[in-house]
Amino acid sequence: MPKCMLCQLKNAYISNICLHCLEDLPWNRQFCNQCALPLPTTSDQQDVCGQCLSSPPFFSTTRTAFCYQFPIDRLIANFKDQQNPPMGKALGQLLAQSLSNDSSIQNNPPELIIPVPSHRNSVNRRGYNPAQLIANTLSKQLSIPSVSSFISKRNQSEQQKNLSAPERLVNLANAFSITKKGITSIPNYYRIAIVDDVVTTCATANTLSKLLLEAGAQDVIVWAVARTP
Ligand SMILES: [Zn+2]
Ligand SMILES: [Zn+2]
Repeated sequence: MPKCMLCQLKNAYISNICLHCLEDLPWNRQFCNQCALPLPTTSDQQDVCGQCLSSPPFFSTTRTAFCYQFPIDRLIANFKDQQNPPMGKALGQLLAQSLSNDSSIQNNPPELIIPVPSHRNSVNRRGYNPAQLIANTLSKQLSIPSVSSFISKRNQSEQQKNLSAPERLVNLANAFSITKKGITSIPNYYRIAIVDDVVTTCATANTLSKLLLEAGAQDVIVWAVARTP
């Protein structure tokens, strides 16, 4: 049996992590139902954050296994920047496990998973699309098909870092488009889950949700490994 990748002491239990380290991970336990923003544990009763109340996003719910904190932030960085696909598989398994324990997901499962598209250039540079690798693991563990050919990404959104916030939104909206295959297939699905590695501002998830709803999906939800506070 392999040793735990975090403490290197105990035997691994799941995804190369021991039971003790698993319990210590920053699980996202109290969160906004719609965007998964971690909420203070004192604020019970309220299940939607102020931001979602004042301007509701296009997706109906978001679930993330973790808050984007140590050591999950390091594990995700290792997966994305150090070309470590097995780490992505481990993170995907942990997300699948947390989704399996979520009764609202079990009662209303999506019929399709769509990973957030990555442009060809970054896929070539890294060797894979991180979101797609997570989506593939979820697809296997939850027995839900994952399809990456319904949405394509144009190259222009690579320049996001140099833009102002309003410019970013316009740029983002123009970055994605539904493919011909997507136009004919999407109306066949009632509920679609968008999958990403980390949800930060929700801007990408929101843009994709709007496109999928306009293309004929009835409900879009979001799944990611971690959510930034
Ligand atoms: Zn451990
Ligand atoms: Zn929210």
